[in-house]
Amino acid sequence: MIAPIKSLSMNEVEQCVKSAGLPSFRTQQILSWLYQKNVSSYDQMTNVPKVAREQFKELYPLHTPSTVDKQVSVDGSRKYLLELHDGALIETVGLPSSDGRLTVCISSQSGCSMNCSFCATGKAGLTRSLDPGEFVDQIHIVQEDFENRVTNVVVMGQGEPFANYDNTLSALRIINHPKLLNIGARHITVSTCGLLKGIERFTQEPEQFTLAVSLHAARQEVRDEIMPRMSSQPLEKLKEVLAGYTEGTGRRFSFEYALMRDVNDTEKDLQALISYCRGMLCHVNLIPLNYIDDSPIKPVKRQVMDYWKAQLDNAGIACSIRASKGSDIAAACGQLAYKRR
Ligand code: SF4
Repeated sequence: MIAPIKSLSMNEVEQCVKSAGLPSFRTQQILSWLYQKNVSSYDQMTNVPKVAREQFKELYPLHTPSTVDKQVSVDGSRKYLLELHDGALIETVGLPSSDGRLTVCISSQSGCSMNCSFCATGKAGLTRSLDPGEFVDQIHIVQEDFENRVTNVVVMGQGEPFANYDNTLSALRIINHPKLLNIGARHITVSTCGLLKGIERFTQEPEQFTLAVSLHAARQEVRDEIMPRMSSQPLEKLKEVLAGYTEGTGRRFSFEYALMRDVNDTEKDLQALISYCRGMLCHVNLIPLNYIDDSPIKPVKRQVMDYWKAQLDNAGIACSIRASKGSDIAAACGQLAYKRR
């Protein structure tokens, strides 16, 4: 069977090496060429015998994405528009911080099928899910462009990672592997809009990857309005599944809450959020929503965010206001896939 090498998990690469009759140490060599040295052709894998390279070339084609556009924000963040081998487009953002950290926000799908009302990606629909190696390629592109090591990864770009669960986990394992990208599991965050089955599976994973849940409303009717695809996965059930996550992992998760004027920013919404979070081991990230030109949904004033933070603090709920980076280049939350040049 012919399959792109980057569509395979590490275990599957091992199987391919076995079925080619090669010794098992070739697996690590090939993985290291692919994901540590980031080569673009089998010919560069000089310690792998030529005959094996030719065999792999035929059966497991090796593709690399191309950068078709790059925009640089006044705050230093950079957004890349990447074209995959079949023409699918994705966006990736590099976010440097003053303390030397370099975070990369990667996409898990080209487009997204979740159709959240405030999100530019959702408006474009889903093209396809990404292969494990296509997650990793995004990190290499940012790393090479910044000439600096990526320290943190957030799977918060285009797509719903738990709608592409197996490939997401295969990618995270490559990113985390000490002989490959070696980025610590706690420095890798997966953001889901709350797919219950995905969270349940994630709870069982042995690695300490970090979980973020896009909540955006703690009142069911408001959430149904802005995240219509999630109406089949009610807030009460989400709470139960998250309690199971905490029990199973002992780890804190975060809630993302983008404040939108006259949509989810009333006192009633705030009180619903406080009561929803009470007793949960969570951290709330209040996110300043970014303008999408033709969207009727607008951000709230800074005073509203400060008020929400103060009220959450008073209620003893850990909370912070996320600095929004890259909004001038449409790289901020909710803006990916919106502007093409
Ligand atoms: S917010 Fe996330 S899940 Fe919702 S449409 Fe946008 S990319 Fe998809």
